[in-house]
Amino acid sequence: MPKLTFLGAAGSVTGSKYLAEAAGKRLLVDCGLFQGSDELQQRNWKPFSVDPASINYAILTHAHLDHTGWLPCLVRDGYRGPIFANPSTIELTTILLKDSAHLQEEDAQRAQRKNWTKHPDPRALYTSEQVEPVLKALKPMPRSGGFDISPEFHIDSYDAGHILGSSSLVLTITEPAKKTVILFSGDIGRYSQPILKDPATPPVAVDVLICESTYGDREHAPGDPAELLAQVVNRVAKRGGSIIIPAFAIGRTQTFMYYLRQLEDQQRIPRLPVYVDSPMALSATDLYVKHKEDHDLDFVREESSGKGDPLSVHQFHLTRTADESKAINNVTTPCIIVSASGMVSGGRVLHHLALRLPDARNAVILAGFQAEGTRGRALLEGAKTLSLYGQPVAVNAEIIELGQFSAHAGKSELLRWLSALPSPPKQTYLTHGEPSAAQALQSAIQEKFRWKAAVARYLDTIDLG
Ligand SMILES: [Zn+2]
Repeated sequence: MPKLTFLGAAGSVTGSKYLAEAAGKRLLVDCGLFQGSDELQQRNWKPFSVDPASINYAILTHAHLDHTGWLPCLVRDGYRGPIFANPSTIELTTILLKDSAHLQEEDAQRAQRKNWTKHPDPRALYTSEQVEPVLKALKPMPRSGGFDISPEFHIDSYDAGHILGSSSLVLTITEPAKKTVILFSGDIGRYSQPILKDPATPPVAVDVLICESTYGDREHAPGDPAELLAQVVNRVAKRGGSIIIPAFAIGRTQTFMYYLRQLEDQQRIPRLPVYVDSPMALSATDLYVKHKEDHDLDFVREESSGKGDPLSVHQFHLTRTADESKAINNVTTPCIIVSASGMVSGGRVLHHLALRLPDARNAVILAGFQAEGTRGRALLEGAKTLSLYGQPVAVNAEIIELGQFSAHAGKSELLRWLSALPSPPKQTYLTHGEPSAAQALQSAIQEKFRWKAAVARYLDTIDLG
């Protein structure tokens, strides 16, 4: 009987890892980093509950670190198989893993130098050298359509509309005399967003559905994202402040650039300098332009309008080195700084916040999901001080949540995606959500569709028969 084990993103939003087993073979779907509370992050340092050397294949739904960021540990600990992903996911994963190792090394060096951490020997979880063998193991698979991993495992990919290359994967397990079909939703994006196509529900009957539930208990606030962003930029610039946007180099950075550029061209906001403070952001933006297979029609029209690069604002500054990053601290006129990490759990955004949070003229825009236990969540919940580099920093800046820029489907969008399945799955498991979100989506599914649904539990194994 084929089996599936939830090795992450069960009871939490991060750490996506699902192990499918059939006919003596093992396939790992995603290999994400746990992010958020200390307790979750501790799991990244523990040995894997399955010997990585015993896993035959791995496959990725998309490049985000909570789906790929543990790959260097998996390979370090003995995984020797291929890691399948579509071409844009391979390119983005390459950027993200290098960025992740680099930022961890920077954080560890700073912690050692300044001696501010409670850890006696602050280390990076993995180094840049440990990323290299992962990159060699990445093997291309088609962006859409079918693909045989092995005689047992067949994959069909569908566009999930979440970030460039993001997919929902239909896994067909073939054993003698039996086929089992499992749908992994991956992260589901939003309908009618700029740049990317809408998410596509696979039009296939599935036995088992593994569905994300990040926003299973919430809708994104209504409102036109462009108008809301224009209001913030104008308000903050008028009072002489700056805007900090915690975001990884991939996904939201391009969405913000797209809207800022449009607002500049429409003369609805002043042309402020925009600093994208990441060694990797420019390459990510190039990839967004390059991979036309993911573009929606509006973006195709923008690109061919002759008005210039729709993902580049007029005063665009890219900072690669740590020194260039620090030099942004000397900018005292209004500016916009986009810097990682998106949940303020580490990375260069910390030093921008340490400098700018105490000044009430400034603003912080939080657009992405802020997991429990992160500084981003604390800011959203109105924290008056934030601990940065071991020091309490006063939060006087305006904190603004712009869920309109989220890359994740809200509750009704998840239900819309589910409602397009041609028949009810025999089993449904909700993953990639905090317990309250997963439970809320479970209730909604039972009520609306009358399907059997359960919340996945960490380290549980289910029979897929
Ligand atoms: Zn994602």
